[in-house]
Amino acid sequence: MPPTYPVEVPTRYDADRGEIAAALVGQPTYRVEQVWRGLYQELRDPSELTTLPTELRRDLTQRFPLALEVATERTADDGETTKWLFKLADGALVETVLMEYDDRVTACLSSQAGCAMGCTFCATGQGGFTRNLTTGEIVEQFVVAARAALPRRLSNVVFMGMGEPLANYDRLYRAIERLHDDLGLSARRLTVSTVGVVPGIRRLTEAALPVNLAVSLHAANNEDRSALVPLNRRYPLEALADACQAYVETTGRRLSLEWALIDGVNDTVRAAEELASFALPLRAHVNLIPLNPTPGYLVRGSAPEVVRSFTAALRSAGVNATVRRTRGVDIDAACGQLAATQVRLGPKPLG
Ligand code: SAH
Ligand code: SF4
Repeated sequence: MPPTYPVEVPTRYDADRGEIAAALVGQPTYRVEQVWRGLYQELRDPSELTTLPTELRRDLTQRFPLALEVATERTADDGETTKWLFKLADGALVETVLMEYDDRVTACLSSQAGCAMGCTFCATGQGGFTRNLTTGEIVEQFVVAARAALPRRLSNVVFMGMGEPLANYDRLYRAIERLHDDLGLSARRLTVSTVGVVPGIRRLTEAALPVNLAVSLHAANNEDRSALVPLNRRYPLEALADACQAYVETTGRRLSLEWALIDGVNDTVRAAEELASFALPLRAHVNLIPLNPTPGYLVRGSAPEVVRSFTAALRSAGVNATVRRTRGVDIDAACGQLAATQVRLGPKPLG
């Protein structure tokens, strides 16, 4: 098994209040809150916390190292999309994307380095699994993006970067708590995207924070879905629908279904009918996104006129459907498949 925690000391955003307090022994007790506020509300480096003695600033910076090193940073869409490829302490690579819209600023975060789910059309899946991210590695992605978004407030988070969030449940959920409790995001502005890890959906149903749930469906009959998403053999559509139903009923949150439109595979009239039958009882919103090409899957995304007719078919069946605009296509920044391309091609230079 690959190691889960490659870093011996807690990284800056892995450390909890107790660990910060332990590093502040001999200091006045208010220092703990001062440091915590500096890290989580002011998004500052300890070296910037001028209310602390100089030596303490240096000590904290060394004791709680950052987890992410910027390997590449690129922007697109007139500066409204920023993509980072981060190198972790053990050399693993993960991606983060920041997207600025008129009404919100969204970060797309990774939950694992690589992914073990093996979806055929996904670049991350094609690259295999490296390891789970720690809570701090997840939270720090948010902090980097939030600093870059200033003076705008980073308002939304989607877990649609690398990895399957519900396969790293405990660390993911602690990160969600940090985002909510310490970084001030409300649960309705957090979205977990899953390929359909049914036990994870069930745990999230019982969790205290009702986040939005997105399920990457891509096919609504078991034969086709198992070919695209191997996990479907373990948790077929019937089990997935039951778990989704319970989620919606218990949390009151809207469910969304993600559907990458693949030429001749899942963009047919029959596919639209099957999707409508799956979505309607769950009152789910459908997000359509034309497939982005990846090196290991040689089928194209659906043509624009097919995307239009597929959308129209869903709508006339009564399904709420939108076509997602792909952000940052010129920098491989469609959420969920950037780092894998980089691994294969080698990192591109900064700038
Ligand atoms: N593992 C989770 C979250 C990360 S993937 C999940 O699968 O939901 C984020 C989204 O990107 C998912 O909806 C996934 O299906 C989609 N995706 C993956 N590869 C894609 C591709 N080549 N084109 C379009 N969307 C893709
Ligand atoms: Fe993993 Fe999601 Fe890619 Fe499937 S689509 S391989 S679950 S990241």
